[in-house]
Amino acid sequence: MKKISIIIPCHNEEDSVTRFFDTAASIVNVKEFSYEFIFIDDGSNDTTWSKILNLDVNSKSGISVKGIKLTKNFGKEAAIHTGLSESSGVTAITIDCDLQHPVEMIPKLIETWQQNNINIVHCIRTNRPKESFLKKIVTNIYYKILNAATGMDLRHYTDFKLIDRNVIDTYINLPEQSRFYKGLISWTGYSSINMDFDVEERC
Ligand code: UDP
Ligand code: MG
Repeated sequence: MKKISIIIPCHNEEDSVTRFFDTAASIVNVKEFSYEFIFIDDGSNDTTWSKILNLDVNSKSGISVKGIKLTKNFGKEAAIHTGLSESSGVTAITIDCDLQHPVEMIPKLIETWQQNNINIVHCIRTNRPKESFLKKIVTNIYYKILNAATGMDLRHYTDFKLIDRNVIDTYINLPEQSRFYKGLISWTGYSSINMDFDVEERC
């Protein structure tokens, strides 16, 4: 059976790890694919790691869990890269642990990928999460500069994506030391489709 990897970067996510896993494990279709959940503990200083170790995996057929504990907090980009490097699925879905990316969309992403014969499904936010006025201004300036420099308009793009094995292998073999996942995945030029979603409140 073909495998799908779910990559979840976690920094101080003790309140959401279990809920994330139980929700996701209950909605994925294990008849068609098997699933490996890869949780990357990115230098948490709460009980995230023990929550990962205690996930109730045994009762869930077709699902396995891999936990990776980084030695310190390297940042989300490094955590995603680590997870993708350790993945063995035909495709991978990168998704936040704090439930701001709707877990319920995972089956829809897989269906969209299968039906459209494409390499990437980008999840595009239709709203912005609640954030301060200052953060809004800084974010606006950042995306304007990025757009001017690269020609890519990534303002509504997120790290919530499905990427197939061609894209995973291309991405993990790029020589960049400093990575920008959502920019580089778009830059690879592989065929893609966009799916809208509403950002949830942080768990
Ligand atoms: N995260 C991480 N390392 C970090 C910061 C965040 O692995 O140094 C994880 C975090 O646990 C979450 C995801 O990356 O699963 C998104 O982080 P956050 O919610 O802080 O970002 P935002 O929602 O503001 O984009
Ligand atoms: Mg978040």
